[in-house]
Amino acid sequence: MAATLLDGKAVSQQIKEEIRDEVTRLSTAGQRPPHLVVLLVGDNPASVIYVRNKMRACEMVGFSSTMKRFPEAITEAELLRKVNDFNRDPDVDGIIVQMPLPDHITPQKVTQAIHPSKDVDGFHPLNVGLMTLNFPCLMPATPSGILELLRRYQIPTKGKHCVVVGRSRIVGRPTSIMMSRGGQPGEATVSLCHKYTPPEDLARIVPQADILIVAVGKPGLITADMVKPGAVVIDVGTTRVPADDTKSGYRIKGDVDFAEVKDKASFITPVPGGVGPMTIALLLRNTLDAYKQRFDFSHLLQTPSNSYEDES
Ligand code: NAP
Repeated sequence: MAATLLDGKAVSQQIKEEIRDEVTRLSTAGQRPPHLVVLLVGDNPASVIYVRNKMRACEMVGFSSTMKRFPEAITEAELLRKVNDFNRDPDVDGIIVQMPLPDHITPQKVTQAIHPSKDVDGFHPLNVGLMTLNFPCLMPATPSGILELLRRYQIPTKGKHCVVVGRSRIVGRPTSIMMSRGGQPGEATVSLCHKYTPPEDLARIVPQADILIVAVGKPGLITADMVKPGAVVIDVGTTRVPADDTKSGYRIKGDVDFAEVKDKASFITPVPGGVGPMTIALLLRNTLDAYKQRFDFSHLLQTPSNSYEDES
């Protein structure tokens, strides 16, 4: 039987509607909307598209948004000064510096320059530490999007074997930590595979997964023979591959051989339309959470969405 699709597009739409309702309540109470600032250095075409999508998503939920563009040649010191200006601006709730940055700018310095309370990407070491210890904080959007999909489809994770393939700072590693922490989703036994996992080990470990999360960027890495029957498969990979039959000349492919694996898995994310839309939705929710923490409108709003009942 074919797997149930984990429809990130539909779930992200639901989340955006929930956020829009909260913004409407704020506006009715005479408060300004949350405000996200995105800093873009240079004119990398993919980055321009990502930033535009973020701006558009802000508009959809009623947030204010500002895009600040800087030339490729901006110095590191100047960029850090700009970040600091927004740190101090009481009308700004969330700050993102779109990656990648030119080679003369150290990304870690920029990440650490953003005030943790405005770090809606959840990459600041303070937020990473809080996330690891399961304290309320701003968490990275893609891993949060993955967990939110599991939550909304009521997929049990406690005691399950979760295999995460890929250990990047923004996806694989935080996802592995979040899946092993207390709470639901969480409490899983986690294996984390990466580039130095020998192929024979990958072929041995991946088939043990009750929940398989793949974030590598190598189309076709996970084939049907590697997937346990009934597994939940989450494919984060998005790679552009040339295609003659599309207008753009390319197609987005995940890391999982979807056509074959969908007949073996119990749940599976499509690519596109799975994790991608969830990432944007969770970024918006982080911005709302950053706003709530600073202004404490708890009497108007719901419980912070990123707090978990269990602190283990
Ligand atoms: P990344 O920083 O390049 O990390 C890739 C990870 O895969 C690394 O940890 C690498 O290991 C590991 N890896 C490489 N080859 C491997 C192999 N043969 N077997 C096992 N692991 C291997 O990429 P990323 O930022 O995490 O992104 C991963 C994919 O997800 C990309 O396709 C990206 O476009 C996509 N993505 C999608 C979203 C979304 O919202 N849908 C968001 C972010 C990323 P080492 O650490 O040892 O190098």
